[in-house]
Amino acid sequence: MKRIGTAEMVPGKKTKGYIQVGTDTDGSPFNIPIIVATGKKEGPVCWAHGCIHGEEYGGAASIIRLYQGLDVDQLEGVFVGVPVINLPSFKARSRISPLDGENLNRVFPGDPKGTYSHRLAFEVLHLMEAHADYVIDLHSGGIGAEVPFYMIVKEDGTEASEKSLWLAKRMGSDVVWRSDDVMIAGGTITEHTMNKGIPTVTVECGGGIVTEEHEHLFIQSMLNAMKALEMIPGEAPVQEKYTIINRAEFIFTGNGGLFIPACQVGDIVNEGDLIGSVMNLYGDVIEELRCSKDNAYIAAIGQRYWPTQPGQLIAEVIPVVAGGSK
Ligand SMILES: [Zn+2]
Repeated sequence: MKRIGTAEMVPGKKTKGYIQVGTDTDGSPFNIPIIVATGKKEGPVCWAHGCIHGEEYGGAASIIRLYQGLDVDQLEGVFVGVPVINLPSFKARSRISPLDGENLNRVFPGDPKGTYSHRLAFEVLHLMEAHADYVIDLHSGGIGAEVPFYMIVKEDGTEASEKSLWLAKRMGSDVVWRSDDVMIAGGTITEHTMNKGIPTVTVECGGGIVTEEHEHLFIQSMLNAMKALEMIPGEAPVQEKYTIINRAEFIFTGNGGLFIPACQVGDIVNEGDLIGSVMNLYGDVIEELRCSKDNAYIAAIGQRYWPTQPGQLIAEVIPVVAGGSK
């Protein structure tokens, strides 16, 4: 019987298990829960994971909910869900790992002799290479920020890149960050699954408060992908038009204080527009953050009154490179 970690792939069954990657400070194993639904008929293996950043837990909940609702009698192929891929970071409700201070999504392809995050990256990438035909990577703005519902794919001219874009356009959003940015090539999981030829789509949605709508969008995005891949019945939606964005500008605060956003996720802003400001603890506005691009999409912004520090990433604005403004 084929298995992933300790979870067996049994045709017509949902099974559960874990992947053990290393041990905690007290010696207890890090057993990463894995949930598998195997159809009776052959088909692709669609792998979805959440919480590569531990405080982005909307994706984790949505993978579990999708799995609970999946009808294996209708499934062709295999759905593999890893709700929380980064257990130390999840336990600390932190974007980075408390064990080594690393951002897991910047250390791929990992290193079996490195610190915990490097070892984790190495192990999970190896598992994906062994099992996954498609990877869905769920993210959000985390506790301190909000993002709209949109897709990210890496643009590198390969067949996997074209397939990723095709899939992303069928997952329910009309906005796709078709990225050749340095950021996505900086040790992200996407960079390295794509290097292995596995089409990969990152789904961004919501932030620290997981609303029913966020959950619905996450679940629908995965179901739509499985429809597009003919793993489950139904038509994946095709949008009338798409807004393609690329070459992000990352906006950092220069001061500590309370952040006051001046726009909302999904807004289109232009050069000189106010993105937000920082208020000190006496109530004085000490910093205004303005956009330096035209026709740019607000792909992430800090929550209202989120405490900032100098150098904190507070917004992502990404120019529209094709398609209309929303
Ligand atoms: Zn993330």
